[in-house]
Amino acid sequence: MADSNGKILVELIKKPGNNKCADCGLKNPEYASYNIGIFVCTRCAGIHRLMGAHISKVKHLKLDRWEDSQVTRVREVGNITARQYYEERVPSCYRRPNPDAPQVLVEQWIRAKYEREEFCHPERQNQYVSGYMEGFLMKRGKEDSRYHPRKFVLSEVDDTLKYHVKENKDPKAILRISELNVAFAPQKTGHQNSLQISFMKEGSTRHIYVYHEDPEVITNWYLAIRCAKLHRLQVAYPGASESELLSQLTKDFPKEGFLWKTGPRQSDSYKKRWFTLDGRKLMYHDDPMDAHPKGEIFLGCSSEGFNVKIGVPPGAKNQGFSFTLETPERSFLLSAQSEDDRIHWINIIQKVLETPLTPQDVAVASRLVRKRTASGTMSIFSTR
Ligand SMILES: [Zn+2]
Repeated sequence: MADSNGKILVELIKKPGNNKCADCGLKNPEYASYNIGIFVCTRCAGIHRLMGAHISKVKHLKLDRWEDSQVTRVREVGNITARQYYEERVPSCYRRPNPDAPQVLVEQWIRAKYEREEFCHPERQNQYVSGYMEGFLMKRGKEDSRYHPRKFVLSEVDDTLKYHVKENKDPKAILRISELNVAFAPQKTGHQNSLQISFMKEGSTRHIYVYHEDPEVITNWYLAIRCAKLHRLQVAYPGASESELLSQLTKDFPKEGFLWKTGPRQSDSYKKRWFTLDGRKLMYHDDPMDAHPKGEIFLGCSSEGFNVKIGVPPGAKNQGFSFTLETPERSFLLSAQSEDDRIHWINIIQKVLETPLTPQDVAVASRLVRKRTASGTMSIFSTR
């Protein structure tokens, strides 16, 4: 009996819908939830287990023994039917996780679907779709690097995200929702439920880091920012397609890591810097969690004199895995930590340089402070 059940399961996961994880889309799921009736990947199965057997009962497709009734259930439901029910009313601003998504996002997506049933009962989404949110988050101090509770207030109507040091006093900072980016930052902060919020201040980028003990709360803040951004974009660009607007809400950094970099003169020695690629902005910092980058390089188009190539110009110092980023103003001599890392940086920068500029890109370029470089030419990067 068990043998024939095994064969049925093998046939079932070949079916469209069932051949990808019901929750994150990873191909070839190895588990199933036999009460919900869906096929899921190893990571999502772990999250299903955490919710408890009263929500989801998970088994490995090959290593566990399956009862006839359990096989019948997954055959009757399956991923496509389950999605129609559990994802009936997902708000468009919601970030549906893919297999690379941060753990906290995947976890909260799964809990929202099956534990809280937020997408069957839209009134349960009010936390993040209403356009207003306030509450305390732990914010990392710019000077002392310690976390302090700060009151945050998000208002879609005003296009602002404010935070207060003292609850009844004026806000310490007012961020424009339409101009900020937010990304989960578990690796950098060491807190699973943390966010990095980046915004422009006086011509350069500023980063702040926040966390909350409750993963649902931090995810709601993330979603509330996305929802407010989407609603404002829909008003500003009534003719734009929703998918176009959704791609502009929040962006994870395509790549971050340490590189060695020389100063403006080619004789300068190489210094270790933390590089962050954010859209067309390549920022470098002394420390990964610095509040401000030391410098920001705007990556234009290859047709405008930008290019990236392996090695350094003749006569310049070569430090291991070097490569050169040329901008119309200056050549940046950089060095990666390994050959693989160098190739990855070059490929990812190359991809940006080959992409045409959008009007938003032009706006970013014009907002980055233009300062005189050592050579006396105008440059689109700040050098602090
Ligand atoms: Zn999954």
